[in-house]
Amino acid sequence: MDTEKIVQGQRDFFKTQQTKSLAYRKMYLEKLRNLIISNETMLYEAIDKDFGKSKFDTLTTELSFVLNDIDYYLKHIKSLARPKKVGTNLVNQLGNSKIYADPLGCILVIGAWNYPYQLSLSPIVAAMAAGNCCILKPSEIAENTMKAMAKIINDNFPPEYLYVYEGGIDETTALLQLKFDKIFFTGSTKVGKIIYKAAAEHLTPVVLELGGKSPAIVTKNANLEIAAKRIVWGKFLNAGQTCVAPDYLLVEETIQEQFLEMLRKYIQEFTYEADSEQYTRIINQRNFQRLAHLIDKDKIYFGGSLNEKKLFIEPTILNQVDWKDEIMQEEIFGPILPVISFKNYNIALNAILELEKPLAAYLFTNNTEEKEQFTQKLSFGGGCINDTIMHLSNDNLPFGGVGSSGIGNYHGKYGFDTFSHQKSVLEKATWGEPNIKYPPYSEKKLSWIKKLL
Ligand code: NAD
Repeated sequence: MDTEKIVQGQRDFFKTQQTKSLAYRKMYLEKLRNLIISNETMLYEAIDKDFGKSKFDTLTTELSFVLNDIDYYLKHIKSLARPKKVGTNLVNQLGNSKIYADPLGCILVIGAWNYPYQLSLSPIVAAMAAGNCCILKPSEIAENTMKAMAKIINDNFPPEYLYVYEGGIDETTALLQLKFDKIFFTGSTKVGKIIYKAAAEHLTPVVLELGGKSPAIVTKNANLEIAAKRIVWGKFLNAGQTCVAPDYLLVEETIQEQFLEMLRKYIQEFTYEADSEQYTRIINQRNFQRLAHLIDKDKIYFGGSLNEKKLFIEPTILNQVDWKDEIMQEEIFGPILPVISFKNYNIALNAILELEKPLAAYLFTNNTEEKEQFTQKLSFGGGCINDTIMHLSNDNLPFGGVGSSGIGNYHGKYGFDTFSHQKSVLEKATWGEPNIKYPPYSEKKLSWIKKLL
């Protein structure tokens, strides 16, 4: 379908006001929920073809996320959409003030491949809940999931309301020529800049959900068993292809040896093997080669075996890594964990401050002072103390980056707000009109104004 036609169709449809009705929003949210449930098998098969992601991981990290989002909005849509009454200042008496959550119009969502369902469907669910029309451009790199989403949505939704546009760079570039009311992008910082520039041409607001190097810090005051188990899980989930995965590990020198042994133990216990249910493939040859190149053989503490045909990279720990090493210069986005030791906690925090602001940060400690310094000193999108990744499963926490890891946020109430304009309306009574602000001015009026202001 012609891009201009689809976008114009959505613009025209938005003007009919139909998407603003709560009944309309709910009807289609319910429809999407039912379609996801009834097409579950097709969705599992598509993601398995794309990168060998298991049913278990697809349900827990993708579909259940989207279904929970739908349920959240169905439950809360009335209160989220209700105009919020706020106080009215003295000079505006007699009046009342309200903020309306106003749908924006036509939204473009551009998805990434690594959690193709969650990262494409969760933003459109929030956009629909907020009363918008939406075009989704999933990542072409996960081709089968892109096609599965296009089939489910384009066969069942009116294109003037919701449409999946399939394509890669050329198609996205063409879409970006058009005017949208908001662009919601998930992907790399490099492409994020391209999106931001294109959006600026139309003064289109953006949400950029980007990546970065997210640290995990383990001090001697941590519960080491729990820390090791949770870091191994967070790092090797989806074979490390997770935007909020711990990218690298900073571990206090005195516990380094003991802790690395624990990491090894959990990697073995979790049986991350080629073709196993627990372990995902690397998405493609290009990423496989990029990752293989980052493994410095002299620094392998654990793992390091590769199988290019199966796109398998064994969970790998690199020890004695230096900040200047190649692996510390870019987001890894794969199952390689570089470890750097530190003597002094404060110096470790200062080293993180030297880098770009990460999407996530994780601290493992039971020491109050260390927790305090972590939350006060570091700037990062979001994170956990004594866990990894799980912060984004809490609807009450906004999810998004800061600095080069992103602009804006979503999830729960924040997703609804992201796709709404906060429209302020002051309503005045038509009686009791003081003449004080109107010309002609006088000294007496001025002295009253001084008192009032
Ligand atoms: P990517 O930036 O290569 O691609 C993302 C999307 O942009 C795709 O839909 C792609 O078709 C499109 N695209 C790619 N090149 C383009 C171009 N030149 N012009 C216009 N559109 C273009 O990212 P990816 O490889 O899909 O995902 C990996 C990156 O995404 C990592 O950096 C990761 O940290 C980040 N990420 C962030 C989040 C988050 O929520 N913050 C989630 C997942 C992934």
